Amino acid sequence: MIKTDIIIIGAGPVGLFTIFEAGLLKLRCHLIDSLPAPGGQCSEIYPKKPIYDIPGFPSILAGELIDNLVEQAKPFNPGFTLGEAAVKIDKNDEGNFIVTTTKGTEHEAPIIMIAGGLGVFEPRKPPIEGLENYEDRGVEYIIKDPEMYRNKRCVIAGGGDSALDWAIYLADKNIASEVSLVHRRTSFRGHLDSVQKVMDLADEGKINLITEAEVVGVGGNGKIENITVKHKTQGEIVKDTDHFIPLFGLKPSLGPIGDWGLEIEKNAIVVDTLDYSTNIPGIYAIGDVNTYTNKLKLILCGFHEGTLAVQSAFARIHPDKKNVLKYTTVNGISGF
Ligand SMILES: Cc1cc2nc3c(=O)[nH]c(=O)nc-3n(C[C@H](O)[C@H](O)[C@H](O)COP(=O)(O)OP(=O)(O)OC[C@H]3O[C@@H](n4cnc5c(N)ncnc54)[C@H](O)[C@@H]3O)c2cc1C
Repeated sequence: MIKTDIIIIGAGPVGLFTIFEAGLLKLRCHLIDSLPAPGGQCSEIYPKKPIYDIPGFPSILAGELIDNLVEQAKPFNPGFTLGEAAVKIDKNDEGNFIVTTTKGTEHEAPIIMIAGGLGVFEPRKPPIEGLENYEDRGVEYIIKDPEMYRNKRCVIAGGGDSALDWAIYLADKNIASEVSLVHRRTSFRGHLDSVQKVMDLADEGKINLITEAEVVGVGGNGKIENITVKHKTQGEIVKDTDHFIPLFGLKPSLGPIGDWGLEIEKNAIVVDTLDYSTNIPGIYAIGDVNTYTNKLKLILCGFHEGTLAVQSAFARIHPDKKNVLKYTTVNGISGF
């Protein structure tokens, strides 16, 4: 059981900044995210795009903003449960919340902040019959640990940055024994640099590039052993492999958040703008996941919401203590 003051569900920019604001009030945070790394939409959808409306930064890459937020939170020593979605919220006899994840990890705290953004990112799965039978048996939609592929034959499918970057990584670092990249077209959607690198590695024989083709079948006894590729001109080819990794991007869905008894309106959690509390006392919702009159789904609005929510959380945790606003310029930062 992981115990903390505030469980933050969602490690996007808003969840990350909330660690800092909670830390100033001496409240500890533990974050849960279904993705393998912090950053939410900024890391997952547009890490290389510049953002122009973060106060004090005329322009900052979304990925850099996340790096900075992680750095800013460090003095407050946050805990992370990554690669696991929060699926269940219960209350124990002491009145604390227990949040359980997909892998059964349990977290206990008097306060929950839901910073779940657009929800859990779910992989876009190709429509291949029987594919689900091989999930975690050689079929993976997200690469969590590249070491898993050491000396293995891997087939990656997709034409975006994720497919290109992982094909490059597994081939260039000599991790996988064989890397094939299957894509429907001859052109790719990823960064030009990455496309060029894939072409170079294909010329060197390190990536087996199969374009104008798609994976249409999977086979194997208990685990994946082969895939069937349908090529535009060459017809169907059966190829032996240890892993099939379709990387067609992620789509957000509110997921389990919708089942926790919270008031939901248009796929978002209704909050009181006084402190961004929900209809369940002790549970707050901040960032893109909430809704109220005039809501704007912007990072800076989420930062403000998290800041006010932790003030309210402090009052719930310490009803006997008065919290006086202290400037960081005056008091500095004293971490844990
Ligand atoms: C292309 C694009 C460009 C944008 N440009 C700008 C811009 O210029 N300026 C701006 O201010 N905003 C911009 N935005 C919007 C901005 O990215 C969002 O407002 C911001 O990401 C919201 O942050 P968040 O932390 O609330 O949620 P998110 O970034 O969505 O993060 C939520 C996290 O919660 C996790 N999660 C959800 N449910 C669960 C669960 N049950 N268990 C575990 N984890 C869960 C998700 O995996 C995710 O990592 C842009 C968005 C896009 C898509």
